[in-house]
Amino acid sequence: MRVFIVSDMEGVAGITNWPGVTGGDPLYDEGRKLYTEEINAAARGAFDAGATEVVVMDCHGAGGGWSFNSLIAEQLDRRVEFVVQHEWTEYTGALEDGCDAALFVGMHAMAGTPDGLMNHTVSGTDWRRVTFNGVEVGETGINAALCGTWGCPVVLVTGDQAACREGTALLGDGLETVQVKTALGRFSARHKTPAVARELIEAGARRAVANPGAVQPYDPGHPCEIRVELATSDFTDPIDIALRKRVASLPSMHEAIQLTSHKTRSCSNATTL
Ligand SMILES: [Zn+2]
Repeated sequence: MRVFIVSDMEGVAGITNWPGVTGGDPLYDEGRKLYTEEINAAARGAFDAGATEVVVMDCHGAGGGWSFNSLIAEQLDRRVEFVVQHEWTEYTGALEDGCDAALFVGMHAMAGTPDGLMNHTVSGTDWRRVTFNGVEVGETGINAALCGTWGCPVVLVTGDQAACREGTALLGDGLETVQVKTALGRFSARHKTPAVARELIEAGARRAVANPGAVQPYDPGHPCEIRVELATSDFTDPIDIALRKRVASLPSMHEAIQLTSHKTRSCSNATTL
């Protein structure tokens, strides 16, 4: 049984604000330890429930060489394999090989969620809303569509209350969620201790992987119109028409997501993910 972990940093217990997730900041050093141990907890739960292979893909853009490279290799559970990407959502190899379940660890709510800690969608400064066929989605929805492209259900979401609520609203009541903190605003939160958060995540991952049929793979529909609302028109001029044409002609959701994300971010130099 192959399990894919998609992970982000903003939803990890003990992390409250941008310095904790920004490469090079002194707080980041603590943040990545907390992050790595939550991944280990999810992996333990998955292996306990029968996983034979766990691959984790770090999706956090920490900046510089830390982007998609925030996990501390030395500290990871020796049974997992980990992917360091160059581009967000670049790696799909495990999904292409066939994954039985995906676990989303450390997630944050979509841009504009009033009670979501560090809420944003792909870019905190340049993107406002993303919709798939009219349904607003955050990074959980985008990554769930990625997994769904290869028929893999997302069975666990961890993060604050807003990230958990967003996951259940999109993926249904069969989704296992683990709330490790309560956001009190965009940059304040009441946390579980890391030790308790890890126990909860391990137990949640165990339950989720033991019952992968509880959630259907997410399918936003075919064809799927992806709309990205940008914060200002600065970003649209050079890319608008060309991007629309190229996205419309792409055969897969994965390529469409990647191109939309890459083109708009490279245009504006945004790094928040
Ligand atoms: Zn992130």
